[in-house]
Order: sequence, then structure tokens, then C-alpha cells
Amino acid sequence: MLAISEPAVRASFVNCTQGEAKRLAIPNDLDLRPWADLDFLGWRDPAATQRAYLVAETDGGLVGVALRVAAQQTGRARRSMCSLCLTTHTGDGVALMSARKAGPGGRQGNSVGAYICSDLGCSLYLRGKKDAGRRIDETITLDEKIERTTGHLAAFLRRVTE
Ligand SMILES: [Zn+2]
Repeated sequence: MLAISEPAVRASFVNCTQGEAKRLAIPNDLDLRPWADLDFLGWRDPAATQRAYLVAETDGGLVGVALRVAAQQTGRARRSMCSLCLTTHTGDGVALMSARKAGPGGRQGNSVGAYICSDLGCSLYLRGKKDAGRRIDETITLDEKIERTTGHLAAFLRRVTE
């Protein structure tokens, strides 16, 4: 994706109030993010680890969603798979994240959940720039994996915004 600025990030959020969007913690190293290798921008709030954020380019422009990270089940060496990039992690590498729906649905308390890489590093796992341990050998190309991931992400964002 192309680099985006802090004001553009703040303006992209569809499922929080303007006040929340103004206050939420944006990474202070936006200039240094590996934009060329990112299919979306995702981050955790370092001061409030149950908060995560995701911003992606869609047909309708930039869409940002605020996510709440469910408490992790710890103490078990379980494997789980990210529903966006299909990377398999052990332990806490995948977290259940829920997004309040945009608009009236959100005001009624409806939300949409998905299992996502805990560090929202899907783009980098796909490209082998981050290691999740054992890799599943797949016969499809990187471009196909990226397309699949952005497809899953677009479907998730549609569920949040519809
Ligand atoms: Zn992922």
C-alpha cells in the first residue's frame, strides 16, 4: 500500500466516534513502516494492549477499524490460524479481535469478530519477513496469497461496515 499520514489514518475510522478517532494511539513511526510490503496497516496500542487498529485501502477509499482484542488463553501450546493470512501460530500468535459495527448496528451493540495475527503482521508473515515458526507449504504464489488475504480482509471490512 502507499504510505498514509496520521491525519489520513485518523480520518479513516468507520466504527468509532470522531473524539475516539482523534485520541487513539497512532504509531509514531509511520514514516518508517515498510509500506511497500504492507497490504494493510495494523497495530496494537502499546499502552492498552486490548486495543488494536487496522487501516486498509478499499474500493471506497481508506477504511480504518478499531478492534478489541479478547483475553488470551494462556498456558496451552495450541496452534491457531489467522483468518486473514492463514498463517498458523502457536501460543498467543493469533487473537480473537472484534470490531464494533459501523453505524446503527454498532450503536445497538453489534460487533464482528475474526481471528487475526496478534501483532497484525499478516503482510510480513506472508512475505517471509516475519517468522511464525513452521510454515505450511503451499503451491500457490505469493501474489495469490496476497490476493487471498486482501479478499479475506475486504470481506471482514464489509461485515463491519454493512
Ligand atoms: Zn495474519
